[in-house]
Formats: sequence, C-alpha cells, structure tokens
Amino acid sequence: MNQNQHIPTAFTNGRILTMDPGQEDVEVIIIRNERIIAVGDKKILGDYPGVRIIDLSGRTLLPAFIDSHNHLSSFACFFPTWVNLFGLVTKDAIQNALKTHAGKNPGSGWITGFGWFDAKAGGVDLTRYDLDEMESNRPILVIQATFHMSVANSKALEMTGISGSTPDPRFGIIVKDDKGIPNGIIIEHAQAPFFRATMEPGIREHADLIHARAEELIPLGITAIHDPGVTLSAARAYRLLHADKRLPVSVLMMPHGTTVLDNQPGCWLDGPVTGYGDETLRIGPVKVFADGATPQTVAFSMQMMGRTITSGNYREDFRDVLLESTRRGFQVCVHSFGNVTTEAVLDAFEQAAGEAPTGFAMRPRLEHVALLSETQIKRLAAMGGCACIQPQFLTRATARANLFARAPVENAKWLPYADLFRAGVCVAASSDDPGGSMDPRDPIRGSVMGSTMSSGDGDTVFPDQVLPFETWLWMYTAGSARAGGQENERGMLKKGLVADLVILEGALDPKTPPVVNETWRNGTRVYCLRTAGQQAPAAEPVPNGRTVPWRL
Ligand SMILES: [Zn+2]
Repeated sequence: MNQNQHIPTAFTNGRILTMDPGQEDVEVIIIRNERIIAVGDKKILGDYPGVRIIDLSGRTLLPAFIDSHNHLSSFACFFPTWVNLFGLVTKDAIQNALKTHAGKNPGSGWITGFGWFDAKAGGVDLTRYDLDEMESNRPILVIQATFHMSVANSKALEMTGISGSTPDPRFGIIVKDDKGIPNGIIIEHAQAPFFRATMEPGIREHADLIHARAEELIPLGITAIHDPGVTLSAARAYRLLHADKRLPVSVLMMPHGTTVLDNQPGCWLDGPVTGYGDETLRIGPVKVFADGATPQTVAFSMQMMGRTITSGNYREDFRDVLLESTRRGFQVCVHSFGNVTTEAVLDAFEQAAGEAPTGFAMRPRLEHVALLSETQIKRLAAMGGCACIQPQFLTRATARANLFARAPVENAKWLPYADLFRAGVCVAASSDDPGGSMDPRDPIRGSVMGSTMSSGDGDTVFPDQVLPFETWLWMYTAGSARAGGQENERGMLKKGLVADLVILEGALDPKTPPVVNETWRNGTRVYCLRTAGQQAPAAEPVPNGRTVPWRL
C-alpha cells in the first residue's frame, strides 16, 4: 500500500462530468483509497483538512471508460502473436506476410493470420489451395476480421481431421467444392477445432498474454471491460491473474462455452451466477450467439421498393441456452446482428420473463443490432433492455448507406443509435476488439465517430442518428456500467463507487477531440500523459480492493 493511501484526494478547478443525472453541477470530487467519498461544491473541501488537491486546471474529469465488448481473453490477447493481415487485399500480400512471420518464428507450429476480409467484404477470396502454394508443411489458419469465417490450408485440415466425409457441425459450414472436397473455408462453429488448436495455450501463458494486452487499455482511459465470450480455460487464466493481483483492468466475464461460438455454457451454469465476484473480476451475463457475421448466418428481412428481400438464417440453439440460463438465475447477452434474428431474440426474452425466478432482474442485452425496426426498439425498451453498440462499424457503413440511399429500407433502420437512446434503451458503447476493420479500442475516437455518425472524416452517413459527443462519453461510462449490472460499482462519479477516473485535456468537441491526460484506477493514478516540460509521476501500484475467492 503506498503512502498516499488513507489521505483523501480532491479533484477541482475543472469541468466535472459525473454522468449521474442527479448530480450535474459539481465542483469537487473527493476520493479515498479505492472509493469516491464525496461529490459536491467547493464548500465540502472544508470537511477534509489535509486533503491532497489535484488541480484540474480546466481539464475535464469523468468516470474511467468501460469497454463493454472486448474479446480480451479470446482473440485480442492472441492478436499480437498472430500475423496482422489488416489492410492486405491481395493474395500475394497475404502470402508474403504469412511467410515473413514463419521465417521469424521457425518451428512446426501453427501460423495464424487475423484481419483478412473476403471479396464480398472488400478483400480477396482465398481457399486452401492459395495457402498451399506457400509450400509450408506447417498448419496455416487465416481468420477473417469478424472471427466468423476462416480459411485453412491442407495441413491444418488434415491436423483437425476434416475431410470430404466430415459433416457440417451444428451451426457451422465446412465449404466443399462440387466434388465434395473441403476448399478450406470454414464458417461459424465449424471453426471450433481450429480455435482450440490455436487459442488454448497453458494457463500461465494465456494469463501473460491477457495481462500484456490489457495494459494497453490504461492509456486509453479504459479501466474495465466486458469480455463477451469467456471459455472455461480463459476463466482459469483470469482467475490466476486475479489471485496474483495482476489484472490491469476490471473484467466482467461473460460465461460462454468450451470454444468461442459453441453456445454451450455447460458447467458454467452450475457455478456462481451473474454478479458473483468482486470489483476486479465478476461474472456477467451468459453470452450466446443468435447469429453470426456472414451473409449465410445473419438473418435479414428488408422491404425495399415494394419488395421484401430476405437473407441468411439465425441459430436456433440460442433460445434453449437463453431460457435455461434465465431459469438458473443468469442474465443473458445475445449476439444479434440481423432484424429477423433480433425478432426471435426479443420473443425468447419475452418468453424467458415468464420463467425467470421471482424477483429476478432479467435486463436483456443485445450486441451489435445492426438493423432494427421501431417496434423492436420499443419492445427492448419496455423490457428494460440494453443494446451494446460499436461505432467502428460506421467505417463499413458508408458504402451501405450510399446503396440504401437509392433504395431505402422501409421496415427498419441501420445503426439506429439515437433512436435506441431516445426510446430509453440503455446503450453501451464498445470496441469489439480486435474484430472489425480498424483498431477500435480508443473511446475518444469511438465517440468522435459515433457522435458524427461517420468514420471520423466528417462524412455523416445517417444524420438522424447523431447524438452529442457527451452522450457518447455517457455510453462508454454509465451506459456500459448499467449494461454490465455494475451501476452500483462504476460508470459514474458518485459517492461509494470505485475511484476509476479519467482526466481529458481539450474541448469535448468531435472536430478537435480531447486527449486522455490521466487515468486513475482504484484511487491511484496509473497513467499520466507526459507533456513538454512536465514530469509525469511514476505509476503507483494499484490496490485490488476487496477480493472474493474464486472456485469453479
Ligand atoms: Zn464481438
């Protein structure tokens, strides 16, 4: 414990955004140890003689950011060890990147690339034969930037036992040519054996990878994440970090399955329910996938120019998991992109409400919701629901917006962020790191994109969905906290909540966005931007607060 523990610290002389509708005109925030102990006007300073003063000098103080959808333990922590394929749109470029990586990392192990897009998504189609041209005797897996589709070389197919006679798994597709031979493309749950082969290191190695990736979040002002799909092995790595007091950010683990995308929470449902844990590591809602992210696996129905166009299918297996989890006292979070999918998800939540334990707060939570009707938004609001959205998807929305400007969708709206917010749905903002088409982790950049409904270049795609920059900061703090059931723990500057804070320098204007100047976690400054002539204080050890023992 450092010497400053027990001495209260006051923040004053700047703008204070509490994100608490009950406390808007605040001049001072006082913290002690890991908590906020007082919020008010300058007079309260008199109650704390000897208080240490942090002069905000006109900067803005707000709660630290919560990334409410970050695949830290599954894909994100492994990404630095993989070949980064973002931006590579030719076969040659991808082959060269994989070859360079193999040269630097000799041996016989898997070569995994991430960030590829197929031709439909603006990249290049690949099959096993394109990867076989590299004449590597190592297994190669190239994962699409969405995680919902991959391509494997012949060695990888052989090592996972996939041949022409392998049937498609439930909710997965092994794409085969007209002779019945797999062409290397594997979709959704068919990726499971490949994910097991490439993403299950030993617990210690997994914990170290998580630790390294999580530390990168602190300079972005993020001190907490929701991990949407934690496998049992990833949970062991998280618990090890927790026991060693080495988790750089607080984690809300969403119980999932054995491998990502499998929708089989299994023995997770015999363990502690949503809410169990402490401020560093807690169980969140069970995560299920009701659809995917490929044309085949997302269910849309669009009325355009008098015609109804339907595409794709959702997964039927989400419903049983949703109902069973609710009966057992878990909240549930559902990945749902398409409007037909969302219709089925809302039906399932309404059914679950009738079967939930007495007094159970269901708080339905939907991830992504790319296309929604007004009625669906109202249904979600009526259930006290949450929508977790990712402004980075605006990078891919421009082409779609231009297309739909000529033939608008009449029965629903794309990315209706403002409609959700105004209807009273709790909206949480997030990255989906490392998925998508950019590094989406910076909440300031996300707020710029979201508040201008653009990829940040000022080219607004859906002007009626614009919300103020400060509303986006709310979604990255109080909105995310509520979506994670953490509103009594974090996300606001309110007496009794954890002292996780961010100080921003500059105006809250998306045209000239502010920068993260300081990050505080559990009452301790853990990041300070060095500016010219200024000596940044060294980071101090972060106390972990009260801890709850983990079993499982
Ligand atoms: Zn995701």
